[in-house]
Amino acid sequence: MNSSLLQKAIRYINKDTSEPNESPKLIVVVRILVLSMLFYIIINSIIYISILNNIGIAILLVSFLMFLGIFIISYRIHTTSVVYTLALCMAAWIVVNLIYFGWNVGVQHFILVLLILGFFSGYSQYAFKAFCAAVLCCFRIYLFFLCGSREPVTSLPPTMNNILQIINTIMIFWCISVISYVFSKDSQALEGKLIDYNNQLQDQANTDALTGLYNRRKAMQYLEQLLTPSNTNFTSICICDIDFFKKVNDNYGHDVGDTVLQNLADIFSTTLDKNILAARWGGEEFLLVFAGYNGDEAYNRLETLRNSIKALQFKAKEKTFSITMTFGLAEYDFASDIDAVIKEADEKLYMGKENGRDQIVF
Ligand code: GH3
Ligand code: MG
Ligand code: MG
Repeated sequence: MNSSLLQKAIRYINKDTSEPNESPKLIVVVRILVLSMLFYIIINSIIYISILNNIGIAILLVSFLMFLGIFIISYRIHTTSVVYTLALCMAAWIVVNLIYFGWNVGVQHFILVLLILGFFSGYSQYAFKAFCAAVLCCFRIYLFFLCGSREPVTSLPPTMNNILQIINTIMIFWCISVISYVFSKDSQALEGKLIDYNNQLQDQANTDALTGLYNRRKAMQYLEQLLTPSNTNFTSICICDIDFFKKVNDNYGHDVGDTVLQNLADIFSTTLDKNILAARWGGEEFLLVFAGYNGDEAYNRLETLRNSIKALQFKAKEKTFSITMTFGLAEYDFASDIDAVIKEADEKLYMGKENGRDQIVF
């Protein structure tokens, strides 16, 4: 079979005829099962048609036509109706085969295929599914006693019996695997999607949309995790604010102001060490957390940052402009709490603003 023919066949099997409240996977599973049964009947015909009498041949022929009919109606009627038709036809097929070949060829195990199909299919109530399971269980017990009380119509030679037993076992495993694979794949994919979606939501909840930096919420979470009593490393915290940013907006427009904020975020990530956390604290204010840095070490990093920011050139309305920032730096003293160290950094920032801006106050 060439690949385009195969693709056509796959598309044909996948053709969705289900109602909005019916699983599109179910009809695909049903079609695969029915096609498998047709293939199974063809194989069986090839193997032992020579030793069957007319009744046996008629059973094979009727079975083939019955499953072919189910395949055809799977494109015409509701999926649920197709499933019920398949279940009834398969039950009848099992009874006839057991009466004809006897218990030893293992056709009764096809009841398990119906059981699994019943549990995976549709959105019916669990009580109904449990009821179907109980009915199938009783059906199997009844068939056991039915076969025990009578001889099979035909007795196959032992080799044929064994071959049929093997074919039936393979077929039953195949059918149950198909049903389980299709439906578990669905739930695994769904679970994966939910996890991804959850992570996305988590990222969105932690990130500032404009700059891509962590937001205030995430920064506080980070500080709470970092500044625990067991942490004996130095930590320095800085709050910084763009000087006269209102003028940037007024002179060049809000969009240019936004670009400045985005460029600043880039400068933070390129200039600062990777382990220094930068977050947008609000408006044009940022929080920097220097985990493992004492005040002097943090001061040196900030000095480099301050100069890099100052050197940045922005172009707007055919003019070039630059900005400066003022920084308030505080060292965590292990005894106070998070709010106190943030408050200290904030106070120092405003001291810097009062003292003429473009500076670090420590
Ligand atoms: P100072 O040096 O005292 O900090 O002066 P300033 O002009 O920066 O301070 P002010 O608080 O008066 O103004 C801050 C401005 O920042 C006002 C507000 O429009 C602007 N701003 C806050 N968030 C954003 C934003 O997301 N995008 C833009 N474009 N502007 C913002
Ligand atoms: Mg400002
Ligand atoms: Mg401000």
